[in-house]
Amino acid sequence: MRRPISAPHTTNQTKEVKMAETETVSEIQSVEIAPVVGVGAFAEKLGIPVTSVIAELMKNGVMATINEQIDFDTAAIIGADLGFEVIVEKAEPTSAATPKVKLPQGEGTVRPPVVAVMGHVDHGKTSLLDAIRDTDVAKAEAGGITQHIGAYQVKRNDRWITFLDTPGHEAFSAIRAHGARLTDVAIIVVAADDGVKPQTKEAVRYAQEAGNHIVIAINKTDKTGSDPNRVRQELSEQLELVPEEWGGSTVMVDVSAKSGDGIEKLLDMVLLVADVEDLRARPAGPSEGVIIETHLETGRGAVATVLVQNGVLKPGDFVVAGDTYAKVRSLEDWRGKRIKRADPGMPAVITGLKSAPAFGDAYYAVENERQARDRSVANQRQASIKSMTKVKKIGIDELSSAIAAGRVQELNVVVKADVQGSLESLLDSLNALGNDEVAMKVVSSGIGDINESDVAFAATSGALLLGFNVSLTTKVKQLATHEKVQIRLYRVIYELLDDMRSGLSQMLKPEIIETVIGELKVLGVFRTTKTLVICGGEVLSGKASAPSQVRIKRGKEVVGAGTLTGVQKEQNKVSEAVEGEQCGLNINTTTAIEVNDRLEFFTTEERQRSL
Ligand code: GDP
Repeated sequence: MRRPISAPHTTNQTKEVKMAETETVSEIQSVEIAPVVGVGAFAEKLGIPVTSVIAELMKNGVMATINEQIDFDTAAIIGADLGFEVIVEKAEPTSAATPKVKLPQGEGTVRPPVVAVMGHVDHGKTSLLDAIRDTDVAKAEAGGITQHIGAYQVKRNDRWITFLDTPGHEAFSAIRAHGARLTDVAIIVVAADDGVKPQTKEAVRYAQEAGNHIVIAINKTDKTGSDPNRVRQELSEQLELVPEEWGGSTVMVDVSAKSGDGIEKLLDMVLLVADVEDLRARPAGPSEGVIIETHLETGRGAVATVLVQNGVLKPGDFVVAGDTYAKVRSLEDWRGKRIKRADPGMPAVITGLKSAPAFGDAYYAVENERQARDRSVANQRQASIKSMTKVKKIGIDELSSAIAAGRVQELNVVVKADVQGSLESLLDSLNALGNDEVAMKVVSSGIGDINESDVAFAATSGALLLGFNVSLTTKVKQLATHEKVQIRLYRVIYELLDDMRSGLSQMLKPEIIETVIGELKVLGVFRTTKTLVICGGEVLSGKASAPSQVRIKRGKEVVGAGTLTGVQKEQNKVSEAVEGEQCGLNINTTTAIEVNDRLEFFTTEERQRSL
């Protein structure tokens, strides 16, 4: 909770001064608190009844119950009012951070490489993952049941390879978020009939940033019209990925996910590049790794797939996973088979979690339940501080005060994206759109497909729902139609931004373009009523033509305005009189026009501005 303190409260400070005068000055007691603290816990720290804290909060305009959290600034003000100095507790790095084990060179045991498949939409990531899975003999052993749990393993020449089967860039944003490396090799799929596309480039960048080895799978080579060599050329020219066979260092394999051609060679190449890295892990001791999938199951509660990176994971272990924890109740491999241990490089499914952790959360085993609980709470606290800082960073407060002052018009949006990385860059770009008149306002954002609550949120806040690389069910679509919520789905970031830019542009007040068409000197005024003047004069420049707007000038001053509704030449109605001609004029105006006034005729046109 973060609520502003409405007005500084001074009563108790005065009391304190009085006390200091009558009693001997006692030292102000200082208490240390976390950056966010529960009201109850805060009262306990101060050693005063919680009702006093709540009362003090209320005096300051903050309505909070014993279970609510207040931030440090609020606690500091309340504390001062109650005669305490409140200081922020030093962070406990060990409780919230993930222990990282770096193995000395040559130590540990060899582990399977972990591979992610990425590439432009429709180039065949899913098909390729399926084709690879089909080469797996283990699949037959499990009776053909293949669950999608976020990862699987295949055996090639007696060696295991672990594949993350979450398509897209999720694996890489997890790495970004946690600073750890999840995958070793990135297979970038490029369709031989389509070539290098924006998402291909993005995928390569992600993989390179994460320090992964890149293996290019040139897919759909079975298709007529496919041109693998053109793909090689594009990769060389546009991304400086030069194929080995052309003297470069990038492994490129022609494959067909449809026919299965080239898949085994692709696996061999993955093992080959993995060998270069000499991938090792700590084979014993407490387990640690990353959460790569989570979901809720009736009867089993929160279920997570973990990728073990070091140590051994066993049933009964206590593990902290992000802001939750588990006593591992059951442990299964990717085929759904119960196992007694999961070793490094292995994906495994665990149950026994208190709640579902997030994709990309680190997990690690601890000694007992108490430690597990304490550390998950510490992680929760860190997460809530992070989200608060995030809100601050976006500067919603500044924006909304400008909106309230009527200076800025806002375009409300709810944003959903497939992964954290895309979401963050989208939010940054959206916030950068706009100017001092119009702005984007992201009222809600998140990762994952568009769901009912997103629609509800968009409906209540009158927002446009934007989805990037996400989808929605028919049910959600129907709800959106019913709630009159507009949903727009995108696969390319700049298309989304272009649309939003033009949306904002339409909200800009149009620019008024004025064109002066002529000037006339008034030589006589024949009739003046409250709203009409009939006068005559000589056109000095340009022309007098009706209809047009009129500015009435007397000397250097503009004394009024009106509309020219008719022009006459020698009693005859004409459309215009040109320079040097004399004419009569009908002008709708409330200004009494006088002889010698100059009339300037002009037209205006509204022009839509753009950002
Ligand atoms: P993703 O969006 O990258 O996961 O792509 P998909 O795996 O969904 O494939 C997109 C389309 O391409 C589907 O219609 C596939 O059947 C088709 N496709 C994928 N791989 C191949 C291939 O090797 N050959 C042919 N002919 N079609 C393929």
